[in-house]
Amino acid sequence: MKKVETVKKSLRDYEALISAEKIEEIESLSRELKGARVLHINATAYGGGVAEILHTLVPLMNDAGLVADWAVIEAPGEFFELTKRMHNALQGKDDKMNKEDKELFLRVTRENAQRYSFGAYDYVIIHDPQPVGLPEFVDFGEARLVWRCHIDTSSPNMDFWSFLNNHLGYYDAGVFTLRDYAKDGISINNIVEIPPSIDPLSNKNRALRDDELKLAMKKLRVDVGRPIISQVSRFDPWKDPMGVVDVYRVLKEEFKGLQLLMIGAMASDDPEGWEIYDDLLRYAGTDYDIKVLSNFHGVAEIEVNAAQRISNVVLQKSIREGFALTMSEAMWKKTPVIGGNVGGIPLQVKHGVNGYLVNSIEETAEYTAKLLRDKELAREFGEKGHEIVKEHFLVTRHLVDYMRLFKSL
Ligand code: UDP
Repeated sequence: MKKVETVKKSLRDYEALISAEKIEEIESLSRELKGARVLHINATAYGGGVAEILHTLVPLMNDAGLVADWAVIEAPGEFFELTKRMHNALQGKDDKMNKEDKELFLRVTRENAQRYSFGAYDYVIIHDPQPVGLPEFVDFGEARLVWRCHIDTSSPNMDFWSFLNNHLGYYDAGVFTLRDYAKDGISINNIVEIPPSIDPLSNKNRALRDDELKLAMKKLRVDVGRPIISQVSRFDPWKDPMGVVDVYRVLKEEFKGLQLLMIGAMASDDPEGWEIYDDLLRYAGTDYDIKVLSNFHGVAEIEVNAAQRISNVVLQKSIREGFALTMSEAMWKKTPVIGGNVGGIPLQVKHGVNGYLVNSIEETAEYTAKLLRDKELAREFGEKGHEIVKEHFLVTRHLVDYMRLFKSL
């Protein structure tokens, strides 16, 4: 296991964005929890929503007077292949966990536990299934243990679920994006609902200067004089990247100049990414108005920020989804959104208010066309989306939820 360094962030910078009441609550909780030692453990420092959140939440916990650290487990590629299968199976995919899989999982957990040397904590938050087995092998002393599950485990593959659930008895609380994501019979008594959040001041979400925007657009290779739709997400079958290309193809008949931006980072704990990326390129074929880009094209935070800003519509056509930070990110930038009617997307997207919820390629194409045609409607949705994020999905709310949880434990 190794520690992840984060940059310093200051709560003061967020004051202009939140109510005086929220600021007071943070200050009061800070006083009560001053000096509390917190450790977050997950599988990767880069790529995907969990890493995205921790890069902001950990520094802000420190600024609030807690002593927060973040560590990632270390594991060979075959372990991440297994845990990706586990992730898929926990979302319901058919698969079987055999004896070798279980041995591999436990061996890597044990190895990480043996290398654990970070000292004592008051609260340890273990994210997702990859490090879930650590409490069996690490002596966390008096620490309260929290399992933070970012996936929808409400109707899992039982083979994988039983294995996972056997490790959950050690935890004092289980945190889910939605209470309903916790499977009946889960071995944690205390289930808490805390939705994720975005950092409005990060390079991913802050306002961009003109020169930054210009440079980013060059990297994105789009022509801003023509309509753009985009999807930003790991290359993952549950995000339905091919479905997005199908949507674009339907729309291209009416909107001849339409461009599709498909942006996907390769997360180090997601070995499936390259395969899907290759398939997607083949599927896109020689249509150069489809841009498939990744971090390997120099598309990083500012470019993702620009893409979400300049798009006429941002899609997240997921078939299964824990939360979809990408929706709140686009909404914060006042871009109208269309998301699959699954998981955490309906928490953020209110059908006909700030975007549309969809169940098929046809529906997605139909609603996207509506927003491409009606600029005023698109603007209204954008404004509304921004308000929703401001109210519910900023990191300051997330910080308060965690501090309340710590207090309750
Ligand atoms: N992301 C990114 N670059 C990419 C693809 C994704 O920065 O090429 C970020 C995206 O902006 C979001 C996170 O990765 O912050 C994905 O989180 P989400 O909840 O949407 O999905 P997850 O990957 O956790 O399933």
